Amino acid sequence: METMIISETMENVGEMTGLIIPDWLREKLEQINSGNCRGSSGLGDRVDILVKNYNDMTGDLVGVDCQKCKNRGRIAENRGGYFMTTECECQITRRNIDYIRESGLADLLDLYNFDNYETEYDWQKYVKDKSLDYASDVTGDWLCVLGCVGSGKTHICTAVCGELMKKGHSLKYMLWRDDGVKIKAAVNEEEEYTRLIRPFKDADVLYIDDLFKTKKDASVSAGDINLAFELINYRYYQPNKKTIISSEKSIDELLDIDSAAGSRIYERCKKRGYCLEITQTGEYNFRLK
Ligand SMILES: [Zn+2]
Repeated sequence: METMIISETMENVGEMTGLIIPDWLREKLEQINSGNCRGSSGLGDRVDILVKNYNDMTGDLVGVDCQKCKNRGRIAENRGGYFMTTECECQITRRNIDYIRESGLADLLDLYNFDNYETEYDWQKYVKDKSLDYASDVTGDWLCVLGCVGSGKTHICTAVCGELMKKGHSLKYMLWRDDGVKIKAAVNEEEEYTRLIRPFKDADVLYIDDLFKTKKDASVSAGDINLAFELINYRYYQPNKKTIISSEKSIDELLDIDSAAGSRIYERCKKRGYCLEITQTGEYNFRLK
């Protein structure tokens, strides 16, 4: 984000960049403008002084302590005689901190990352490698991690989400058996229903955790199927929106529950092999299917 200012007063700079210009700096500029520094203050020099003064100021942005912009969030330069400010990199990190807070995933992100994902077995190594590939994939492909309790699917999906947010994606976390229940309960109140479902439809990245997880022994309801289809179908037609799904169901079971939703999920993950199905073969043994 660039802001160009053709300005000779610090007040205008303050207005345009949202910074409060301290009195001493304003006085200094007034001196320059009034000609007290004439001789050494052609327009270029004046812009240089503005740039220097701007870059010497300390801002009050929080979240990260940035030496580069002194927490102003912007850096000034003299570009061809014009005063210009550009956004500092630290603003990306600040936005990401907001994304994490708004994503609903903050607690899980503290627990699950790639560094603490165990890779004792070959299938775990494969899952980690594919997930790392996915986290750096710039396409709108989807990721599906399917497997029973203990297969580490929430861990790996959360780690991927953390990486994607670091790259600047906004993300929304949907715990199916919690958020899903809330949305389904509002199905007869159009306005409320739209308000609840909208953030999950529109997020840059949507992570649906435990898709079709129901209370013990309950079967997947028509309400579940309708909600899943609405979300999946909407996002299916948005080529740049990533969707990450974890579920205890296998891909065959997802297709059995609803072939339209299941086939859309599979289609969006299969191209680069991002449909990872972890099958239990013994008490603590898993393999990839
Ligand atoms: Zn900065």
